[in-house]
Amino acid sequence: MLNPQLRAVLEGMPKAELHIHIEGSLEPELIFALAKRNNVSLPYASVEALRAAYAFTDLQSFLDIYYAGASVLLQEQDFYDMTAAYLQRAAADNVRHAEIFFDPQTHTARGVPIKTVIDGIYRACQDSPVSATLILSFLRHLSEEDAFATLEEALPYRDKYLGIGLDSSELGNPPEKFARVFARCKELGFRLVAHAGEEGPPAYIETALDVLKVERIDHGVRCLDDAALTQRLARERIALTVCPLSNVKLCVFQHMGQHNLLELLDAGIVATVNSDDPAYFGGYMNDNFIATFEALPLGLSHAQRLARNGFTAAFLPPAEKQKFLDEVDAYFAAAAV
Ligand SMILES: [Zn+2]
Repeated sequence: MLNPQLRAVLEGMPKAELHIHIEGSLEPELIFALAKRNNVSLPYASVEALRAAYAFTDLQSFLDIYYAGASVLLQEQDFYDMTAAYLQRAAADNVRHAEIFFDPQTHTARGVPIKTVIDGIYRACQDSPVSATLILSFLRHLSEEDAFATLEEALPYRDKYLGIGLDSSELGNPPEKFARVFARCKELGFRLVAHAGEEGPPAYIETALDVLKVERIDHGVRCLDDAALTQRLARERIALTVCPLSNVKLCVFQHMGQHNLLELLDAGIVATVNSDDPAYFGGYMNDNFIATFEALPLGLSHAQRLARNGFTAAFLPPAEKQKFLDEVDAYFAAAAV
């Protein structure tokens, strides 16, 4: 059992969430409500039947259900409602800043215009008290050509997202498959991130850095298999957006007690805690913090470091970043009394 005082500190501390797929925040209740509103038939009889299907064995078994859930999103208001629901939930966990991934190809492939997707998500971000920015992610199981076409379609709305990411099935889809499109995105001035080293090998983390020129690695937990890479990540202050509950749910680690978050911190890496696909993996930000602190020998100083890391690694202007870091430090100074 987690010490109640530490638990309260974790719940109340200001947080930045840097690894959240907005489509992964769709709760079964909202999936059913949107299916009804849009007359979409689902291959599940009820909310309970859908939730019961969330028994994943690996990344692919999750992705299959995740894409089925996203099929109910058709109108701008659907994207708005999904994003507003996430931001409301995040605010309840004291998330002050969120950098939200969205996967346009999941929707454009079903005939939904990219403008509908971006406008709905963006409008909800504007209406929220949480500071929220967007990262357009390419699906890596699709071709680089498809990613280029998506970028072209999205460019008229480029003032509404600040970064480019790479997600979906990692194994067999190494970062270098997207070398040219990421080079183009860098030229265009976007902030760059990529999923690497979740199920894939440490070599994928290296090519994400060296070929795609990303500034942050999403997941990256397998870096510890390579001592030189681990040292490099620490030395170059390259942040990892770690998602503990996701890692356990997708069997990257067998149980939370085996998670390497503490080893990452001890290696000097700027590790952060995030929820990934909270509706599917059993928890939002506070659930992730509580589950890791329950299972691992982590204390108050780790909590402060993780909270600071989230804002340090955020794509925020320096003054805004400092304001959040000061807020974290003031919170912990008060908590220590
Ligand atoms: Zn992810």
